[in-house]
Amino acid sequence: MASDPRVDGPAMQRIAAHIADVGGIPVRRALPTRERRMVGAWCFLDHAGPVDYPAGGGVRVGPHPHTGLQTFTWMIEGEILHSDSLGNRQWIRPGQVNVMTAGHGISHAEESPGDRAGRNQLVQLWIALPDAERERAPMFQHCPELPHIERDGFDITLLVGDWLGATSPAQVFSPLLGADLRANAAAATTLPLRSGFEHAVVCLEGEIRVEGEALVPGTLLYLGTGREGVRIETDVAARLLLVGGEPFGEDVLLWWNFVARTADEMAQATNDWNHGERFGEVRGTRLPRLVAPDVAGLHLRSQSPDQGAST
Ligand code: MN
Repeated sequence: MASDPRVDGPAMQRIAAHIADVGGIPVRRALPTRERRMVGAWCFLDHAGPVDYPAGGGVRVGPHPHTGLQTFTWMIEGEILHSDSLGNRQWIRPGQVNVMTAGHGISHAEESPGDRAGRNQLVQLWIALPDAERERAPMFQHCPELPHIERDGFDITLLVGDWLGATSPAQVFSPLLGADLRANAAAATTLPLRSGFEHAVVCLEGEIRVEGEALVPGTLLYLGTGREGVRIETDVAARLLLVGGEPFGEDVLLWWNFVARTADEMAQATNDWNHGERFGEVRGTRLPRLVAPDVAGLHLRSQSPDQGAST
């Protein structure tokens, strides 16, 4: 599988997200794309909604497995119940993060409250686990509160990493940054970056300028490495997501809900899930268990940015 082009130094690459549907909600999938598969260890980035849904609607993703990654959910509007094969049942609400470390294998379901209409907006990311960690035991972390930083008219929530004097409680296994920045009106700031990280920005709401480059929802702006800072401006109320990390340095394979290194590993994971092995059982949901698709076309499909992931 092709890996991302090596970038030494700053870049300014606009990458169009593509539209997908995950469990009934439209999403803009900014990673992976044909142009770029990863930013640091971040290997998947879906911006879901904002969307108003009727009673019985919203997110309805039945039990499905993961391996080799962490799922990272940043909830902006609405609430979703997470249930997993370790026995966790956890509501996630605005301003909160769920981090599920799949390691060798875990399964989970995600669903909106079924009895009333609602509204959802969230960002669902995956973090590839480095080789030394990817077979670790699964675990789940709920982060009900995250550090907030006020800066030049931006309300910054630190999702992952050490930045601006704050530390996120989210546990990850490679050097990473993740931050949500929200402005209620015109604002401008220059934020420090680690020059050894690569970074990217996605506009979630409104319109922003990053190093003078205009950005609206639907485009990922890849900034490359070697930057000591980044200028972010807006003339209107806006929200954006900044992600970064050390260039990952390992070629990873994404397919369906799995992250691995080889097609054989994918075939094994698919077989294990479809035979009820390895990934445990999710209790307490009435949603149907998802079936892993046929792995036979993996080599062809792995070239496509749409992996059919159920997140
Ligand atoms: Mn999932």
